[in-house]
Amino acid sequence: MTSLSFPSDAYVDGRWLESKTRFSVRDPWDGAEIAKVSDADDATVDAAIDAAVRAFPTWRATPGGERGKLLAKLAAAMEAEVDRLARVCTAENGKPLKESIAEVHYAASFFAWFAGEAQRSYGETIPATRADQRLVVIREPVGPCAMITPWNFPYAMLTRKLGAALAAGCTTVSKPAEQTPLSALVLAKLAHDVGIPKGVINIVPASDGARVGGRLVASRAIRKVSFTGSTEVGRAILEGAAGTIKRVSLELGGNAPFVVLGDADVDAAVAGAMIAKFRNTGQSCVAANRFVVEHSIAQAFTDKLAAAVRKLVVARGSDDKDLGPVIDDAAVAKIRRIVTDATAKGAKLIVGSLPEGSSRAIAPIVLTGITRDMAAWHEEIFGPVVALATARDETQAVEMANDTDAGLVAYLYTRDGQRQARVAEALEAGMIGINEGLVSTAQAPFGGIKQSGLGREGSRHGTDDYTNLKYMAIHHAATP
Ligand code: NAP
Repeated sequence: MTSLSFPSDAYVDGRWLESKTRFSVRDPWDGAEIAKVSDADDATVDAAIDAAVRAFPTWRATPGGERGKLLAKLAAAMEAEVDRLARVCTAENGKPLKESIAEVHYAASFFAWFAGEAQRSYGETIPATRADQRLVVIREPVGPCAMITPWNFPYAMLTRKLGAALAAGCTTVSKPAEQTPLSALVLAKLAHDVGIPKGVINIVPASDGARVGGRLVASRAIRKVSFTGSTEVGRAILEGAAGTIKRVSLELGGNAPFVVLGDADVDAAVAGAMIAKFRNTGQSCVAANRFVVEHSIAQAFTDKLAAAVRKLVVARGSDDKDLGPVIDDAAVAKIRRIVTDATAKGAKLIVGSLPEGSSRAIAPIVLTGITRDMAAWHEEIFGPVVALATARDETQAVEMANDTDAGLVAYLYTRDGQRQARVAEALEAGMIGINEGLVSTAQAPFGGIKQSGLGREGSRHGTDDYTNLKYMAIHHAATP
């Protein structure tokens, strides 16, 4: 791989700021150090919050059209450097290069989308009950916001928030995941170069997410926190935000059912399953976690899916095969625990084998006979493991699909239009892929129900959580 270029200090108030200590960022494939990044101390975090506070009055007063032009420039800058950006993502996240390239395009699409939305922050007028009154509602930005993001999509999870926040007129302090701060810093440099004013975007990488995240969440000056990550941390953030009564948006974990009914097109279902399961080596919040297949079609679906999975090749991300390594040793241990638990309770391992040793290159696994007492049923697997269960009929498939506290996405394969409508409405999830294995797109509202989160990102609804409604009752004389 040719040498990578990226900043490695915090980006605060338009400048690069170094703290006293640094932490290592490592290639997930072999653990080799690829950078030592400045570890934001409390003073750096506070400087970033102050910068966001100072920049807010000017940024909110900047016309939406002007803010939109800067966002469009940032989208174009990402597109212009897609290969360099993708290589940074692959280096720190481990995903195959083609997936990083797709992620950069996807991430840039949020800036492009919100460049338009910046011009459409509509208010409303309400017919009054009195002839001498006008009732007018306008939208105002909530203020400086904190963004806390995970490692699995280091660009896209950040741009989905930044695009909406900046379009709405908010300023920001972002804390990327410890494993993947470089993509966020590369993005900060691009934002700087296209002329996003100082203080509007601040990035504080850190090795201790709880400390830095906690400081942002507790800050009186921060008026909103937008978090993407695990349900467990999301719960802590919601509690932490109570002290200052701030807005909280949460994009949390999923446990997506992938329902295949008896009349489904098996080849289409297998193609959709391969995307829904194996994108980002299964480390996606929208990854198909439990396959629920109607009995009549189970053998045909399982055989074809197993054949497709056997062809997958795991390699270092820069070698650009089908799958990369999982992110770290904890991920390997979790996958091993989930697979061991399933086989001990009667599941059959029909493709792959129990991961041995410490290698993060996990060959994909297919398990059949998954039952509700298994960890594979209740937990987000977050790795290249297919967990297959069978259902008697449509009614039982729906009941099984909904047997989870998560409600991010569900997938449904059936050719019958009536079943599509009936089952999609019965499935408890914020998003439904119907004969479709990939639901994420900037134009559509992304988000979950139940314990998968609060709020929506992307779409025309994406700026809602970054604005307050201000209502004005205006009295005027009814006659001259
Ligand atoms: P995570 O452990 O919850 O971490 C997410 C972010 O929170 C990181 O930046 C982390 O910093 C920070 N953090 C950790 N403890 C914190 C605390 N007490 N207070 C404030 N911030 C804290 O999640 P992850 O392992 O990176 O990501 C995987 C999870 O994200 C999965 O559950 C996945 O489903 C979910 N996810 C959801 C969506 C969605 O849109 N719904 C999208 C992608 C991923 P450190 O890295 O320094 O610990």
